[in-house]
Amino acid sequence: MNFSRESSILNVMEPIVSNLFDDNYVKTNSLKCSCEKCKMDIILLTLNHVSPHYTSTQAGEAYIKALFLNPQLQSDVLREIIQSVKIIEEHPNH
Ligand SMILES: [Zn+2]
Repeated sequence: MNFSRESSILNVMEPIVSNLFDDNYVKTNSLKCSCEKCKMDIILLTLNHVSPHYTSTQAGEAYIKALFLNPQLQSDVLREIIQSVKIIEEHPNH
């Protein structure tokens, strides 16, 4: 996982949503349409439905990975991703 950012403020939900989405949909080829537009729309829609969790990039990868591995957080985020995939697949922006 790569969490490097130029800014010192990081919403850790961004790498978490994007990694969970990759692992569960992109790598398994389970998307109806896997174009960049749809993938981006699904991630954006999900991020707008989960509470942001801000940290500083100095908090480090260990902290982010610990959050990422939290099963409760993973299942909450995954539930939102599943909803977003449904919505975007039914109404793709192209
Ligand atoms: Zn598409």
